Amino acid sequence: MDKDVKEILDSLTREIKEIRNEKEKLKNNYEDEIYKLNRIFNSLPASVYWKDLDGVYRGQNKFSRDKMRSVGLEQEMIGKTDHDLFPKEAADEYRKNDLEVIKIEREFSKEEVVILPNGETIVQVSSKKPLYDKDGSVCGIIGNTVDITELKEIESELKEAKNKAEIADIIKTDFIHNMEHDIRTPLSGLWGVTHLLEKKETDKSKKELLRQAAEAAKELLDYCNDILNFSKIKSGKLPVFEKKFDLKKMVEHIAKLEQPSADTKKIKLQIDYAKKMPEIIIGDEFRLSKILLNLVGNAIKFTQKGSVKISVKQGKAFNNRHFILILTVKDTGIGIPAEKQDLIYEKFVRGTPSNKGLFNGAGLGLNIIKQFISELDADIDVTSKEESGTVFTCSIPVKLPLLNE
Ligand code: ADP
Repeated sequence: MDKDVKEILDSLTREIKEIRNEKEKLKNNYEDEIYKLNRIFNSLPASVYWKDLDGVYRGQNKFSRDKMRSVGLEQEMIGKTDHDLFPKEAADEYRKNDLEVIKIEREFSKEEVVILPNGETIVQVSSKKPLYDKDGSVCGIIGNTVDITELKEIESELKEAKNKAEIADIIKTDFIHNMEHDIRTPLSGLWGVTHLLEKKETDKSKKELLRQAAEAAKELLDYCNDILNFSKIKSGKLPVFEKKFDLKKMVEHIAKLEQPSADTKKIKLQIDYAKKMPEIIIGDEFRLSKILLNLVGNAIKFTQKGSVKISVKQGKAFNNRHFILILTVKDTGIGIPAEKQDLIYEKFVRGTPSNKGLFNGAGLGLNIIKQFISELDADIDVTSKEESGTVFTCSIPVKLPLLNE
């Protein structure tokens, strides 16, 4: 053979060998990929299946196969339609959904109640998507189902618990209404009568006993009021009222209410109503009076000697109607330690617990005040020094009535 021809033949043989090797490598890689994909597919923790345009199952992963077996569907699904496998009503529904996905070429997710071949009823979320061939035409659907029966059970338990809680809330509200009538009414009667008897009594020792009885009844009444008001207010059923009222009269009325307590402790109770401060304003009289009543009540309670002063003045004005009302209650009492000043607005937080017998109370007053302050878009601030006294300052937006309002 000619030497040149032999060389050409050798080189061609080498090339063919290389191409064969390359082909073999590609085949191995391809098989590797297929194997990997299969493994991933069969490890998916959810049922996945696909069907052709006629609704015939063409594939499913292991999870789907196992799930079907576990619910009593022993026969092979591949090559069958839903009508071969499931009751007609369910199969009709599945086919209808498949056709819709094929037609609109969009993903479809639906909650389905399914009666399984073993008679068990489950709830599942069934998601389906169009399946495309290599030319980009729809050739079937691919779907996956997730069993949400347990989630649904938890959801219904939660719903039931919520309903029960709502019923309990209604019962609690009813109880509070009854308590209002059944406890508060006789208690205030008891306090009123003992107070009256005390005033009339001339015998010194009997008078003292009556004073103590009246004081105890008043404490109980205050405690009861705190709890009742707290429940009512915390239920959030108290709308903010903007009404014209006489602020000066309200402040004087509160001072009058608290005067007996101040007298008992020989504390001076003063009002400083600024000359420039309007007397008639528009605001929430209920909340304002409760804020002031609580602050003054506390000031007297936590003061052993000296004075409690209520100051009312006008703060910043926004226009000729809106301005900030500055309400201050200053006492010369025990003061609040610096580290406790941020905590006093928390409910049931008390400087000295009742069982120490020093000061009574439920620890709810300032928590209610704080809620009112926030509902009024207002601010509250405390400055205090132990053994020197405390000043609570509230800055509350209010407005002036129009002439004919
Ligand atoms: P209560 O008065 O029922 O204890 P409050 O919520 O009204 O509850 O007050 C919480 C705590 O804040 C009180 O227990 C007390 O320690 C402290 N406090 C409130 N006002 C004063 C005050 N004027 N002087 C000293 N301590 C006060």
